[in-house]
Amino acid sequence: VREEAERYASVAVPVPVRREFTYTLGAELPDRPSLGSRVRVPFGARKVVGTIVGWEESPPEIAAKPIESVLPGGPVLDPAMLSLTKFVADYYLCSWGEAIEAALPPRGAATPRARREARRLAGARSDSLPGRAVAMRRALEAIPADGSGVAVHALTPAERRKIPALVGLGLVEVVEGIDRATPVLPERAGTPIEARPGPAPSAAQAAVLETLLPAVREGAYRAFLLYGATGSGKTEVYLRAAAECLRAGRSVLYLVPEIGLTPLLVSRIAERFSGTLAVLHSGLGRTERARTWDAVRRGERRFVVGARSAVFAPLTELGLVVVDEEQDGSYKQDERPRYHGRDVAVVRAREAGAVVLLGSATPSLESFQHARSGRYTLLALGGRFEERPLAKVRIVDMRKEYREVGEVRPLSREMIRALRECLGEEGQALVLRNRRGWAPSLYCPSCGNRISCTRCSLALTWHRSAGLLRCHACGLERPHPGACPTCHHDELREIGAGTEKVEDSLREALPGARIERMDRDTVRGRGAHEALLRRFDRGEIDVLVGTQMIAKGHDFPNVTLVGVLTADQSLGLPDFRAGERTFQLLTQVAGRAGRGSRPGRVVIQAFDPAHPILRDAASQDYETFFDREIAYRRVLRYPPLSALVQIVVEDERDARAATWAASIAAALRAEEQGRLLLTGPSPAPIERLRGRYRHQILVRSAGRMRLVGAVDRALRAVEGAVPRTAIVVDVDPTSVL
Ligand SMILES: [Zn+2]
Ligand SMILES: [Zn+2]
Repeated sequence: VREEAERYASVAVPVPVRREFTYTLGAELPDRPSLGSRVRVPFGARKVVGTIVGWEESPPEIAAKPIESVLPGGPVLDPAMLSLTKFVADYYLCSWGEAIEAALPPRGAATPRARREARRLAGARSDSLPGRAVAMRRALEAIPADGSGVAVHALTPAERRKIPALVGLGLVEVVEGIDRATPVLPERAGTPIEARPGPAPSAAQAAVLETLLPAVREGAYRAFLLYGATGSGKTEVYLRAAAECLRAGRSVLYLVPEIGLTPLLVSRIAERFSGTLAVLHSGLGRTERARTWDAVRRGERRFVVGARSAVFAPLTELGLVVVDEEQDGSYKQDERPRYHGRDVAVVRAREAGAVVLLGSATPSLESFQHARSGRYTLLALGGRFEERPLAKVRIVDMRKEYREVGEVRPLSREMIRALRECLGEEGQALVLRNRRGWAPSLYCPSCGNRISCTRCSLALTWHRSAGLLRCHACGLERPHPGACPTCHHDELREIGAGTEKVEDSLREALPGARIERMDRDTVRGRGAHEALLRRFDRGEIDVLVGTQMIAKGHDFPNVTLVGVLTADQSLGLPDFRAGERTFQLLTQVAGRAGRGSRPGRVVIQAFDPAHPILRDAASQDYETFFDREIAYRRVLRYPPLSALVQIVVEDERDARAATWAASIAAALRAEEQGRLLLTGPSPAPIERLRGRYRHQILVRSAGRMRLVGAVDRALRAVEGAVPRTAIVVDVDPTSVL
């Protein structure tokens, strides 16, 4: 037995226990593995794969078991990534093993069906087809002429049907299993950094770049907030900074909220930086993802685009981190580890000595506050204001409408008028209703009963086309009861209108118009979302109605009208971010109007038209909104003016959850010494979810690390008394429902 074999490895294991475990190296391991190596170890009765995170000279108190084997391929995490995952574990109160697991490509994930792509062969032109082959010409025209290809299921069914014939004529080829957005070939020597240079920057972009580019060249940590209205050209600033960083020999990390919702952006980046780009996203198959990840780790790809988890991409020599739409809620992971991708990105940039560039048209209060305090440098991009006037916004008072019309209809007379005018002028319209289904709830007028989920304290939504009532929180489905389950009254009333009903009302109000709906019910399949966007882009749809999906990042120059229904509904939620989120959504969707040469128009329907948030959104006045909202957060001591941790205790039995929550609160009070502000324990706004009762404690403090430390100690103090699985801890929660 060699001397090394006597040594002890500290191994991080992916279990929700906040400590590492000690194992001996064993005699049969040939060499001492490097830190960051993956090892198979016995853990209780099972075997798990963990990561070596440290060495211990002295033996542990309990006899340590030997490491069974070291996984081939060398260490998967370098010291910088070990340190970043340790930060995630300490700050978000998960185990180091869980944080590492979140940082690595998922193992055992199902491989989605191969992506088939149709490409035009050289010289294939639609005018070479006979004039009567209209459908075939259309199908060919749907495939880019530059040979870049299109996913087969992004085509319409009619186009898809013509593909075999086009292949037969030698005009098109179909390639299996290649994701256009994911170049995985290694970078070839001599490949230019930018395969295709971008457009010349506008004056506003040039002014911003004058500050930004020297910082990128300098190669030290600095944080910037790029604040510019929708359509002001933030993307071009990101891409120019990225090119500069790559030219300086360093790598680029570019985060976007949801890669599936931004297919057009990804293909734009892919065209320009094809030589060195890697796209990491959850839609990739396991093999594809692992290959891409390895290419990044080996340094063959130095530009990574991806959603939240790409913040852990194994880039070395990081020089620039871009976080696009930094305010977006999807950067926060809603399961363990509950990290915030934007905040981890800032920490990663600081550790790496890189520039971090957060961008938004409606910055989070956190980021704008940092810009005001000087922690971030504010870069304002006013481009759109210079060239085109902002869309005209009208707020329709729905209480008045109801009084005058005598019944509640989803579309006001003014909305219908605006839609008809828009279509009459050959424009296109987007209609936002941020609630899917036919009716958000069913109500019994006889006994007052509301049809609720049996597992959650929430109303069931009536989905008429599916013929089902659905719980949007837990997914429970049941048939329409016909009569009230309590009093058997047989005329249940539909309350409110979801996207399905709005679609129906639109068809009635606009006969002959081509109307489509985009929400989670209509874009279930892979590629369905992209297909719908492409059809809208090609002008094959006049009115697109949908949930917040339609508000994100699309640029449709022919949209001259945006309608918003029940704009103030989300303001009533018992969540301190309700106002911020409503403002962001309204501003984003309003920004979709008038992006081409024709002016845009926005019509907002609300029951409380005088609400200040609606007025700020209508005038697209971020700073007035910020000043009022930050004053409110200051008074109530909510983030960003204090740090917040949400603790939810869940159990099938209400009384037991309450008791456990009380003991956690007691442990926190023992910790606080007057420095923590405790709210609760009390039933959470959503009192019951998936059959479990929920009790909530909100803990706030001015000092972030002090708060996290105190919560950590309090939770350790109740270990054994409160089961770990009953506690959900969320540091910096984005929602407290
Ligand atoms: Zn009833
Ligand atoms: Zn439910």
